[in-house]
Amino acid sequence: MRTTRIRYLSYLIDSFLSFLGLIKKYPALVIECMDPRLDKHWRKTLSFLRIDSNRCDKIHLAGSARFIAEALKKKKDCDFFEPGLKVSLGKHHIKKVYIFFHNGCGGYGIEYWADELFLQLKDSLLVGDSIESNWPEVEVFYVRQRLKGVGGYEGMKLTMLTKEEACKELNGLKAFVSEELKS
Ligand SMILES: [Zn+2]
Repeated sequence: MRTTRIRYLSYLIDSFLSFLGLIKKYPALVIECMDPRLDKHWRKTLSFLRIDSNRCDKIHLAGSARFIAEALKKKKDCDFFEPGLKVSLGKHHIKKVYIFFHNGCGGYGIEYWADELFLQLKDSLLVGDSIESNWPEVEVFYVRQRLKGVGGYEGMKLTMLTKEEACKELNGLKAFVSEELKS
């Protein structure tokens, strides 16, 4: 109860500072998994990433970037895009994209944490690279959502990575992943 009150208070302070123009917020496109456990952290997520809630486009798919990456791999020429991406980046002129991924993701169905994270980073980077090469003015960030506690219901920790940091993390994970993913 106390944590909820503190969270709500910090949200009010944040909204007030943003209203006064003391905190700059940005329009953005978020690509996130459709898992409902992520929903209750939405407010915290927007505030952490400094996203303007009135100008936030959202694409919710099982496994977040997973199936966009699958489609890109099949097409090879990388001209496939999920239609929402085209609207957001082409018509709404969004310049910041956040690709999310979370632990215990049903869209991947992988139990071992390192394998799951490795594939999520790989897929997200593939999608991010493709976005940046098709829309060079767009900046892509990678956001890890770590659901905590039994069944992932006890909170969430967010970590935002630049492309360089995501690549570094991907390389670091090679020491932990299963043999078949190492090649
Ligand atoms: Zn998921």
